[in-house]
Amino acid sequence: MSPYRGRFAPSPTGPLHFGSLVAAMASYLDAKAHHGSWLVRIEDVDFDRNIAGADHAILQSLQRCGMHWDEEVAWQSQRTALYQTALDQLGDHVFACSCSRKEIADSRLRAGLSDSQIYPGTCRTGIVNNKAARAYRLRVPDGVAACITFEDRLLGIQTQDLSSAVGDFVLKRADGFWAYQLAVVVDDAAQGITDVVRGADLLDSSARQIYLLALLGYPTPRYLHVPVVTNQAGEKLSKQTGALAFDRGDNDLLQEALIPAAQFLGLSFSTMPRSLPEFWSGATDLWASKLAIR
Ligand SMILES: [Zn+2]
Repeated sequence: MSPYRGRFAPSPTGPLHFGSLVAAMASYLDAKAHHGSWLVRIEDVDFDRNIAGADHAILQSLQRCGMHWDEEVAWQSQRTALYQTALDQLGDHVFACSCSRKEIADSRLRAGLSDSQIYPGTCRTGIVNNKAARAYRLRVPDGVAACITFEDRLLGIQTQDLSSAVGDFVLKRADGFWAYQLAVVVDDAAQGITDVVRGADLLDSSARQIYLLALLGYPTPRYLHVPVVTNQAGEKLSKQTGALAFDRGDNDLLQEALIPAAQFLGLSFSTMPRSLPEFWSGATDLWASKLAIR
């Protein structure tokens, strides 16, 4: 088996909040418990959502927490040539699509389908009426080939039928930006990631990523999805739901952020750590025994 390589891949849409700290901590602890490498990748391909300086603020907060990455940080915005190469390599699995959001909704209504976002297949056999290509989509297979099954290390066996649950999904968006699914897969493969540890809000993306990886000839990593932190209204913590930065520059991160995040992940210390090294060594041991890592 290849040596363990994990990653934390934040989007620079704002400072790290408690929810993103939990995801970062899970991937970090899993890498440490496996004596593996932990990489950080800034997922900044959605230029409309990036906040200037957020990437460096995130890196600074990770360092203040004592979470040190093992290789140079990667920025997706500097890797777009790799995404184009992958798109070209996918060949006939990819088709150009001229549909607007409204046209997709209308054609689903005409076909008597439910009002969901699943692509109705309009441009699968080519764009009609000389309309311009807007986006590039991946053709999802029909029948049993669309059924992706994998084992999540925490949640157990997961199955998704790409054709009924997702449909032909976008790899390059109408605004010209690379889609999350393609960029993640290309980078995980290029960086040799063996273990994807992240929040359960991304569980639904795993089948798409496994299918794409296979088409590109790459192995499937192992997956582990940890619970997502929600606010009192039950919404996932995010900048949109008003989550605040846990790092205010001079506050006690051990007491205010790290210990609560470890407790959220189900780690309970028998003696409370009093320093960052004590915290990380204790939390790594607790994680290893919780996940039965030897
Ligand atoms: Zn279309």
